[in-house]
Amino acid sequence: MPRIVTLPGDGIGPEICAPAVAILQRFVPDLEVEEHVFGGASIDAHGTALTDDTLAACRGADAVLLAAVGGPKWDTTDPDAPRPEQGLLGLRKALGLYANLRPVRPLPALYDASPLRRERIEGTDLLVVRELTGGIYFGEKTRTADSASDLCLYTVAEVERIARTAFLAARGRRNKVSSVDKANVLETSRQWREVVHRIHAQEFPDVELEDVLVDNAAMQLVARPSDFDVIVTENLFGDILSDEAAMITGSIGMLPSASLGDDAGPGLFEPVHGSAPDIAGTGVANPLAMFLSAAMLLRHGLAMDNEAAALESAVDRALDAGLRTPDLGGSAGTAEATDAVLAHL
Ligand code: NAD
Repeated sequence: MPRIVTLPGDGIGPEICAPAVAILQRFVPDLEVEEHVFGGASIDAHGTALTDDTLAACRGADAVLLAAVGGPKWDTTDPDAPRPEQGLLGLRKALGLYANLRPVRPLPALYDASPLRRERIEGTDLLVVRELTGGIYFGEKTRTADSASDLCLYTVAEVERIARTAFLAARGRRNKVSSVDKANVLETSRQWREVVHRIHAQEFPDVELEDVLVDNAAMQLVARPSDFDVIVTENLFGDILSDEAAMITGSIGMLPSASLGDDAGPGLFEPVHGSAPDIAGTGVANPLAMFLSAAMLLRHGLAMDNEAAALESAVDRALDAGLRTPDLGGSAGTAEATDAVLAHL
């Protein structure tokens, strides 16, 4: 029996998590769901954003579905006070989640919500695979009165595993990987490129592979986004490019994400947006990024590709039929949006 842990979190989190669970249970009637408080709600209940109990439950699950954490109630400048994001960072680290997957697929019904012209984004369907645990964010840091440094370090093993994640993802898509680096300047990038090519030749020769320098990638993402399928890149480049790519869709309420580790452990599936405290409790939160995260959970967490595609298609068709929450310029509330998607399942 598949088992997931849900972490509704704070703000609009519980409002979008409950309908996502209801939808998942439509597809997987015997799904076992265990809910835990997380983030600010967990600080209120237990004094810490992530309890040992919650972590143990997540470790034992097939997948973890997270809504969002944080809010003004827990904003603090006291370095010793617990903060909701500590739950997120702690969970990612404890589960060994090294690959962040962000699909960018602007829906035809929402083309006009993008800051880019319709003819530029038409047909775009790409996936950014960002390495999450290495690189300059985690290297040694130094500081003197007149200089500072951040070390960018990658091991061959770290590059091998993220390359495999990207090639495997491409096989289920349009079979093309664009590996983004700065190999004309950086030693880490030169080794990255060698390793990616070796894994390609040895294990994935059927997948098309191209190398793109990061500055060129930033340009091509807005010039010809529909040419990309899977983009794989290191932590810092991925942080920047995934936000750039996200803007192609135009609305933060539409973007899902997955963070994956080794096959042995569960992945974490969550919308890209935060807890939206400004609209919490008003019933107007857009649940679609959460539903699309649930679709990623079906695909990557429970190996239910067909069900994932069916859910994504139901979201598409609900939007085609005119569904618009306030962030998309309409007036449908969370419940109405949920009913519209359920009606198209
Ligand atoms: P946010 O994403 O919560 O909100 C930004 C804007 O987008 C707000 O106007 C909000 O109303 C709107 N918005 C976001 N999601 C929406 C949705 N589903 N439907 C309709 N409108 C939506 O970002 P923020 O305001 O910078 O942060 C609010 C809180 O969330 C902070 O405490 C922050 O730390 C936290 N946060 C958490 C996560 C996470 O849990 N992964 C990510 C980002 C921010």
